Amino acid sequence: MNNRLYGNLIFELSHPGRRGYTLPKSEFADYDLPAGMCRAEDARLPECDEMTVVRHYTNHSANNFGVNNGFYPLGSCTMKYNPAINEDMAALPSFQSLHPSQPEESCQGALELMYRLQHSLAELTGLSDFTLNPYAGAHGELTGLMIIRSYHERNGQTQRTKVIVPDSAHGTNPASAAVCGLDVVEVKSTADGIVDVDDLRGLLDDTIAAVMMTNPNTLGLFERQIPEIARLVHDSGALLYYDGANLNPLLGKCRPGDMGFDVMHINLHKTFSTPHGGGGPGSGPVGVREGMETLLPTCVVKGDGDTYHVRRNEAISVGASLGNFAVMVRAYTYILSLGRDQLKMVGPLATLNANYIKESLKDVYELPIDTLCKHEFVFDGLKDKSTGVTTMDVAKRLLDYGYHAPTIYFPLLFHESLMIEPTENESLDTLDSFIAVMRRIAEEAKTDPELVKGAPHNTPIGRVDDVLAAKQPVLAYNFEV
Ligand SMILES: *Cc1c(COP(=O)(O)O)cnc(C)c1O
Repeated sequence: MNNRLYGNLIFELSHPGRRGYTLPKSEFADYDLPAGMCRAEDARLPECDEMTVVRHYTNHSANNFGVNNGFYPLGSCTMKYNPAINEDMAALPSFQSLHPSQPEESCQGALELMYRLQHSLAELTGLSDFTLNPYAGAHGELTGLMIIRSYHERNGQTQRTKVIVPDSAHGTNPASAAVCGLDVVEVKSTADGIVDVDDLRGLLDDTIAAVMMTNPNTLGLFERQIPEIARLVHDSGALLYYDGANLNPLLGKCRPGDMGFDVMHINLHKTFSTPHGGGGPGSGPVGVREGMETLLPTCVVKGDGDTYHVRRNEAISVGASLGNFAVMVRAYTYILSLGRDQLKMVGPLATLNANYIKESLKDVYELPIDTLCKHEFVFDGLKDKSTGVTTMDVAKRLLDYGYHAPTIYFPLLFHESLMIEPTENESLDTLDSFIAVMRRIAEEAKTDPELVKGAPHNTPIGRVDDVLAAKQPVLAYNFEV
């Protein structure tokens, strides 16, 4: 018998009259609050003893899965290890007690860190300057597009109201363009998964503000034609935007600025190892090439080596404060603790790990584009389609073996996408164990397909109805049932 009270809600553990605390009598207990400010009935709070509460929440926290418990091959997300030293630095009392409205002369150290981080990012990407203000990759995209729109307005090119996005792009690209008030035009991919340059050529005219590219793209493939694409885009008067979410495999090896990109964002919470479970916190600094620096929104830190100050921009403002400072501290710590030489190893190791898994599994999983990948790659489900076992089933069965599932059903180019990104941190043993489990699941799909279709079997909660959960979420305890 399992003596843990798994799966229970705290309300189900409640017994009337139980208490986990005793409070002194309130000084205001006899004071009559205005009737309009009092609730008609007592709040129906759970009533529990202290140990029940402690165990309930501790046991639930133990169900969390993170990079620190096991392999987390979630493609498109770069779930890399967040070294503990990053946390130590972010927790320094002098950083923790900062306030965003503090006078600049009282937080020179923090501004210096931001200034140095901006410069590290500029050097790593070959761009001229960065703003650290945006709070995530998608927010960075919006910021970058606002900059691009201002650039065209400054040049009297207000008719440039469209953005070209590849059909393989992350969903945030078209969404950001739409939020920025720009129309989206899709450019096709070739059969080998990269942007179709001939299709692009036909789409470029004087209504195009920008072309957004991800390199390597969301299939993990290096866009070899970037120099040609950059030339075409610039000749047409548009700008080239780099979605830097996939910077990891290029880090220190080649630079978007040298490839001809004009504006880009970086996801500090991906490439620079800051934690981003459960949707946050993030940071999406935006960089621009030389000549565009004055268009960067507020939160560019300037300095002369002695004093530092924030350069404000009244025209473009994207955030209330100076950005997610604690994330910046972690990213800067990561850059310094790896150093120039080790940073250059990130890309090759991530690339090696991804190719190793891909080559070791492609005889049993369908590899629609069989070529060298960068840091991630996409299978189109199991090779043997006769078993009826889907990508969803494989992902659920992986949970039984103690792995976080890869990204599934993204990108949308294939029906059964299964997108794997191992990152550079993982050892050969970890990769071999994962490969062995993936092969075993492929075998189970043949010998006992129902086992895989019914997975997961040994997790606290079995297979849930994802669609129902998304469409009709139950977010409050129902006392009536
Ligand atoms: C993660 C990702 C984004 C969005 O970044 P967020 O920080 O999640 O907003 C955009 N593009 C690509 C290719 C990504 O992988």
